[in-house]
Amino acid sequence: MARLELDSVTKRFGEGDGSVLAVDDVDVDIADGEFLVLVGPSGCGKSTTLRMVAGLETITDGEIRLDGDRMNEQGPAERDIAMVFQSYALYPHMTVRQNMRFGLEESTDLSDDEMDGRVDETAELLDITELLDRKPGALSGGQRQRVALGRAIVREPKAFLMDEPLSNLDAKLRSQMRTELQQLQDDLDTTTVYVTHDQTEAMTMGDRIAILDAGELQQVATPLEAYHRPANQFVAGFIGEPSMNFVDCAVEDATLVNEAFRYPLADEVGAAVSEADDATLGIRPEDLSVDPAADADDAADGGHAFDATVAVVEPMGDENVVHLSLADGPDLVATVNGLRRIESGAEVRVTIPENAIHVFDGNSGDALH
Ligand code: ATP
Repeated sequence: MARLELDSVTKRFGEGDGSVLAVDDVDVDIADGEFLVLVGPSGCGKSTTLRMVAGLETITDGEIRLDGDRMNEQGPAERDIAMVFQSYALYPHMTVRQNMRFGLEESTDLSDDEMDGRVDETAELLDITELLDRKPGALSGGQRQRVALGRAIVREPKAFLMDEPLSNLDAKLRSQMRTELQQLQDDLDTTTVYVTHDQTEAMTMGDRIAILDAGELQQVATPLEAYHRPANQFVAGFIGEPSMNFVDCAVEDATLVNEAFRYPLADEVGAAVSEADDATLGIRPEDLSVDPAADADDAADGGHAFDATVAVVEPMGDENVVHLSLADGPDLVATVNGLRRIESGAEVRVTIPENAIHVFDGNSGDALH
């Protein structure tokens, strides 16, 4: 069992006016065997949070518990947790086997044979048996990454902490390692906290994702919940690629009003939104439909379709990313099937389907429905 709890965890660097509130009152309860991805933009406090769990950074306020036991005062070596760093942090003068054994020698009292047995088993799991006698300088980036993982796995800790472990790999290797890490997690079933700024990594790897911004936790949810039901505008904009479109609007009689359009809301949404003076309409590029202008049918579209001009088309192969300008209004980005021919300069009709919209409070950014 390894349940990891962060209870009102806060980190302040320095004191007084120049101090930095890097992590602000973060609560997360990570279940035994769960793979939790901590994601957010640069400087949001991900690494600091992870380093507090590892014992590499003191905790200003709050409590971190492993299986119910307070860890705040324990040093890194006392915590039954292994960390994998972005830089791999391998000892250059030691062979792969020695690097992997080193952590075991520090943290266990296994016999030499038992340690070698564990190293061999882990090396096999990671397919690095042939590399055991080499030194890190004679390994590729991907191989070093595996050794760094091996050094953590061999200890059989209660939890793994991983700080952007794939960010030094090229795109192809990164995607391959992503899959391998998921398989490893299925095999080992060890509680893992994985830090990344890459929302694709977060979406594909996490059982749940915790999204941080400016030291504050924005939402903890499954990837699909965060995608479909973002708690606020920050999460909505961070998750999904290309990003969600946002249009600032005033709210008038259950209608979103902008210089370019009036967007009537259905009863239920209208009621939820009517309390706000200002709101932001959110719509994902993949939810917009783009049709030839000639197909316009004002009566049929319920006031949810608008004239637009195609500004730029970016062909991505499987899809086209289409940049649209609404007449006298905001720019929108839509994705459409890559086989469709859409030319820049074309006049089109863009539909913002009511069942796909998100509405956020114009002031707080919180989701309104
Ligand atoms: P990145 O993705 O760029 O690594 P991050 O989300 O991991 O960013 P942190 O490294 O946790 O962010 O930093 C959070 C905030 O704390 C930043 O504003 C950073 O400048 C600040 N910070 C981090 N370490 C220290 C330190 N030792 N002293 C002062 N401020 C620090």
